Amino acid sequence: MTRFYPEAVPSFEHEPTRERFDIKAIGDNVGEGVVALTPFSPGDIVFRFTGFYSAEITLFTLQVEPGLYLHDPFFMGKILHRCDANCDVDMATRTFTARLPIAPGDWVTMNYEQTEDELFRPFTCVCGPVKCEGFTAERQIRGRRFLQENAEPGERVEPMRRRRTR
Ligand SMILES: [Zn+2]
Repeated sequence: MTRFYPEAVPSFEHEPTRERFDIKAIGDNVGEGVVALTPFSPGDIVFRFTGFYSAEITLFTLQVEPGLYLHDPFFMGKILHRCDANCDVDMATRTFTARLPIAPGDWVTMNYEQTEDELFRPFTCVCGPVKCEGFTAERQIRGRRFLQENAEPGERVEPMRRRRTR
C-alpha cells in the first residue's frame, strides 16, 4: 500500500492509496485532479480523507461548517468539480461515496456546491451541456449560498445539487 498522506498522518480505514488512485495534471497545466484506477459502483465508499482544520478557505479545503474548513493538499483538495459529479461528500464522516459508476481512468469528481457556501476561487463551469449548472456565462460556480440568491421567487432550490475549481 502506497500512501498519499505523509507518514505523520496515521493510517486509517478507506484511506486513498496509489493502488486505487492517481493524481494527474489537467488541461494546460492549470491544476491537478484525481483519477480512479479501480472501478466503483454507486453506494461504494470511494475513499475517506483527513486534513488540518483551519479558519481559512484555501484551494485545498472543504467546508465543515460556516467558518471551519478542512485543508488537505495531499488528496481530497485535488478532487475536481463536476455539476453531475460521480461522488457525494459527507463532511461529518469525511467520506466520498460513489453516486454514479466510476470506471478505471475516470476523474473522481464532486460538486463543490455540495459542501461550500462560498468558493475560494469562483469559476464558470463548462463541464458539459447536460446538467452543467455553470454552462451559461452568468452561472458561475461560486458556492451554495449563491444558489439561494440566484433562485427565482418560488423556485425550489436543491441544496444537494450543487461545489470547486481552484
Ligand atoms: Zn458544470
